[in-house]
Order: sequence, then C-alpha cells, then structure tokens
Amino acid sequence: MHKSISNLISIKSEVENLEKKLEIIAVAKTFPINHILPLIEFGHNHFGENKVQEALSKWTEIKIKRPNIQLHMIGKLQSNKIKHAVKLFDYIHSVENLKIAKKIYDEQNKINKRVKIFLQVNIGEEPQKAGLKIQDIDEVVNYCKNLNLDVLGFMCIPPGKTDPTIYFKKMKELNFRYNFKELSMGMSSDYLLASKYNSTFLRIGSKIFGSRN
Ligand SMILES: *Cc1c(COP(=O)(O)O)cnc(C)c1O
Repeated sequence: MHKSISNLISIKSEVENLEKKLEIIAVAKTFPINHILPLIEFGHNHFGENKVQEALSKWTEIKIKRPNIQLHMIGKLQSNKIKHAVKLFDYIHSVENLKIAKKIYDEQNKINKRVKIFLQVNIGEEPQKAGLKIQDIDEVVNYCKNLNLDVLGFMCIPPGKTDPTIYFKKMKELNFRYNFKELSMGMSSDYLLASKYNSTFLRIGSKIFGSRN
C-alpha cells in the first residue's frame, strides 16, 4: 500500500469519532501527479493546491477523467490567475478582499459556474500575512452576499511557532457569529486541535504525502 493511503487512513481514524462530518483535503502542492495517483485510485476525492499554474498542468486532464475529484485552491490568488482558477477549481479558500470576490463573480458568470468560497481571515493580525482584517469582515461578507457568491465559511492559517488554540477558538466564534456551516482550518501539525474547534475542512499535506523539499 502506498504510504499516502495508510497515512490518510490513520488520520481518518483519528478524527472519525467526532459527530460532524469532516473533509480531509490532501494538499498535493509540489508533488508530481504520479505521487498523487495512488490516493486518487484509492478513491480519495478532495485535493488542494496553492498555485494556479502548477494545478493546471497537474489536474486539467485527470479532472476530466475523474469528475468526482474536488479541487481546492488554498494559496494566494493573483488577479490575473482568477480566470483560470475559477475554471479549474471547485473551491477557493483564499478570498481576502472585494476585488478578488468581484473578479470571481465576473469569471464564474462567464462560464455559468458557482465556485464554493472560503473567506481567508488574518486571525493572528500579522502584518505580512494574507487574509481579511477582522474589521473588514463585515463589509466583505455583505459584499459577497449581495453578489450571491456561495460563501461556505472562513479559512485561516494561524501564526507559526505558537499554540494555535486561541486562534482556532476565535475562528470558531467568527463562523458561529456569521452563521456559516463550514470552516477551513487545521494542517499537518494541528488538525486534531482544529477539528475540536469545529473545523470541517482539514488541509493536510506533509502528514499524507511526506515532506516537501
Ligand atoms: C501547504 C499548505 C497546507 C498543508 O500544509 P502541511 O503542513 O504540509 O499539512 C495547508 N494550508 C495551506 C494554505 C498550505 O499552503
């Protein structure tokens, strides 16, 4: 059995006793498709990438052959890549301002598609980090509602090298306050903790596919 399969199975067994249904996004960035294929053959459907260009070359063909595959864009979105991102991805987790929301709206209308969206929050209020500022959340949520975008919930990447508990707790409260059903948080190092704070989409890379160079 390919290591990625046994890794996924053991992660699933760790989180399966929780009441809420969780999706595990296998984050495949930097890995070539032949490293990912065993997990696809195994029947796993949710995969994540953080670069549009890389995702296009890896997934365009296989997604046509395997329509069950759900592809998640989890990296920073450049404006000129949104057109391609909307075509390829089923979910976009990195919507962080009005401009990106509007561009997604425009591009998905052109091809009659409705992408599922997470609004990325800069929950640690780090100056260099992507994501919405807390004080801008209201405006962007309302804007997306007016455009009738399919916003599922919030997404975060907590500050590195610190205990993420307080950030996960804040995210859980935010999602509750806005009445969102889904929450995208938790990576290889903290997915169990994230799942205890109502995360519904865990984004797990190295714990499944091995370390990236
Ligand atoms: C790479 C990445 C992940 C997965 O990271 P691991 O630590 O390998 O699990 C999750 N979320 C985002 C936004 C990423 O860029």
